[in-house]
Amino acid sequence: MLFSELGLGPDVLRAVDEVGYKNPTPIQEKAIPWVLQGRDVLGCAQTGTGKTASFTLPMIDILGRGRAKARMPRSLILEPTRELAAQVADNFELYGKYHKLNMALLIGGESFGDQIKKLERGVDVLIATPGRMMDLFDRGNILLTDIKVLVIDEADRMLDMGFIPDIERIVSLLPRKRQTLFFSATMPPEIKRLADKFLDKPEEVTVSAPASTATTVAQHLLVVNEEDKREALRHLLKNDDVKNAFIFCNRKKDVAVVHGSLVKHGFNAGALHGDMVQSKRMETLEAFKAGSIDLLVCSDVAARGIDISNVSHVFNFDTPHHSEDYVHRIGRTGRAGKTGRAFTIAMPEDGKLVQAIEKLINQEIPRFTIEGIETAELSFDDDGRRRRGVRAKRDEAPRGRKDRTPRERTETEAAPETAEAREPRRTRDRNERPARTERVERTERPERNEPRVERSERTERFDRNEQRPERGDYPRRDRDDRRDRRPRRDDMDDFAPVVGFGDDVPAFILRAARPKTEPVTELVTAAEG
Ligand code: AMP
Repeated sequence: MLFSELGLGPDVLRAVDEVGYKNPTPIQEKAIPWVLQGRDVLGCAQTGTGKTASFTLPMIDILGRGRAKARMPRSLILEPTRELAAQVADNFELYGKYHKLNMALLIGGESFGDQIKKLERGVDVLIATPGRMMDLFDRGNILLTDIKVLVIDEADRMLDMGFIPDIERIVSLLPRKRQTLFFSATMPPEIKRLADKFLDKPEEVTVSAPASTATTVAQHLLVVNEEDKREALRHLLKNDDVKNAFIFCNRKKDVAVVHGSLVKHGFNAGALHGDMVQSKRMETLEAFKAGSIDLLVCSDVAARGIDISNVSHVFNFDTPHHSEDYVHRIGRTGRAGKTGRAFTIAMPEDGKLVQAIEKLINQEIPRFTIEGIETAELSFDDDGRRRRGVRAKRDEAPRGRKDRTPRERTETEAAPETAEAREPRRTRDRNERPARTERVERTERPERNEPRVERSERTERFDRNEQRPERGDYPRRDRDDRRDRRPRRDDMDDFAPVVGFGDDVPAFILRAARPKTEPVTELVTAAEG
């Protein structure tokens, strides 16, 4: 199919042509005609499918027909993270270059003043993260009564990040008569409930199962002991022809540790996680895009949906807790038909996580070994988890069905335990596993006589038995980030389970107590930041 067959106007088609797209992607082919007809759309699609253009292209066409009024935006796009919001804004500029549409990007961490000025001039499109959006509304800077098109993007990630109450409030402030486009990579019951509430007789558009991994990505799994992880990472970085790479960690704290370690070893690396001030986040991302840093150590939230087409490698320094995060992470490479390589550095106790990932992607991740680094064996029972000590107990403490987060419930329900999973030791014995193992010679500097882990590194190594974070682990937050406190499981190390609230534990209860010594001024500055 051709773009010209979708019903888009000539100016949008010209912009698309100049971007160089030849044909619409499946989500664009299915969604654009419905959006142009003014219908509500429920889209089940993840980033990387061309989802952004599936709503921005027809919106530009629709909005091109009217005019903006001061402080009364005509459309609203809600995104879970600032980076995604900024990316959608870039798309809007790119595709809307032949339209005179005004856009305001309302994200936390940036000055209110500039955003308010833009709103006062009148905007056609508001692209916002929920926290900053509500702040501006509560200050009286926006009237939402003229919104004709609402887009809720990445709804399942909004749920993970605790944004759903904000979203419900925002939607309650919008006119009932409007067009709503709702996108989510997965459709757990909570998301379906919201879709039913917000959408009016929607057209459902689903594209390829979220579990699919691109065939252009060569996947590898190393199983090593915890103390060898960083050495394994460094070895791969030096020997696998890495041009640039995302390096994913499960916890923000580990992002800082791995980043520090790489810099110390002379790698050109930056860090990206949700607790960094926005200006630094943007600066780091731009530096990575521009190639002035080669390695980006990051958390899932910060890197979600980031679209950089020439990334040669993805490393999972930690095995992701949510199997679908694996798909998102490795999808950062092998984009736009290019080839990419992904390495997951698992520890023995990650057996069940690896099993869940392999079940989701319906394939075994080929095993990989490094000469000189001991290969460990995945453990599929609970012993490995118990070895993780206090943190593991907190994370894995048996919680009732209601105490688990919605995502955890959905995952467990979607993937009931199989006989194979129940008897993993016997059936998934190392000798029986038909693992394809690639072996590489270790060409790194000779380290035979060196201690495996440097002394200074030992002290900086993250401690999985830690009970509470160090003071320095409470970085400044701005208002927008502070709303983001309903923890995901990968964020749960600061939290103990709270019994009795079901899924609706108030965020202030879940927030870890600040050490008493932290100066109050830092909080005030952060709130204004
Ligand atoms: P998204 O799913 O919106 O994050 O888009 C993923 C990537 O696909 C982005 O780099 C887009 O520029 C690119 N893209 C979107 N639509 C098309 C298309 N029709 N043909 C080729 N690339 C596209």
